[in-house]
Amino acid sequence: MNKWINDFLNVLFPPVCHACGAKLAPHERFACSHCLNQLPRTGYHRREMNPMEERFAGQFPFVRATGHFFYTRESALSTLIQDMKYRRFPDIGNMLGSLAASELFTTGFFNGIDFILPVPMHYLKQINRGYNQTHHIAAGISAATDIPVCFNLKAVRSHKTQTAMTAEQRLTNTSGLFALQNPEVLNGKGVLLVDDICTTGSTLRSAAESTLAAAPSCRLSMMTIGVTF
Ligand SMILES: [Zn+2]
Repeated sequence: MNKWINDFLNVLFPPVCHACGAKLAPHERFACSHCLNQLPRTGYHRREMNPMEERFAGQFPFVRATGHFFYTRESALSTLIQDMKYRRFPDIGNMLGSLAASELFTTGFFNGIDFILPVPMHYLKQINRGYNQTHHIAAGISAATDIPVCFNLKAVRSHKTQTAMTAEQRLTNTSGLFALQNPEVLNGKGVLLVDDICTTGSTLRSAAESTLAAAPSCRLSMMTIGVTF
């Protein structure tokens, strides 16, 4: 947009924090530094067999997994995620992805990872929403790490919204959702599966199983922005 129009709009409607409503400083986008600092970090990357890894242990081989922030309803993170997904602010995903990745970068979490593989959305749903927020999170992680994003995982059928389902129903609902295209690109590589939130882990599990079925020698890790208790 023309810079002059942009500046004019910023005077009329100064950008505010999506979480607390405070006016943002010029260097801040979508959330103020205070709200971002207050987001509860899990510290899972520092723990051997952390609670997110426990959700996948014994189900398929993986190197490591973390969700960077604790996710609860009615939290600042929940407001940011809802705005990212449902209120047409996909760039919140870039911001959260970069924030989480920059905090993880020096810990060695990304060592050995060659590609970032965002969990896809069925194309009809993506047409309806206009974007896949997980692509934006992956782009944010890529910007902070210089690791390229690979879009080879595709959603081959749609699945129903999972909010009211039991863990067992979620497993059936998410099995066979994805297919990996051109698996030779990922075979033998370190691959980081990325999603927005890990609740039961059934979507990530389905994505991991489809990836490993097609590229069995890739070394999978998983990362989400939020993880439930
Ligand atoms: Zn704030």
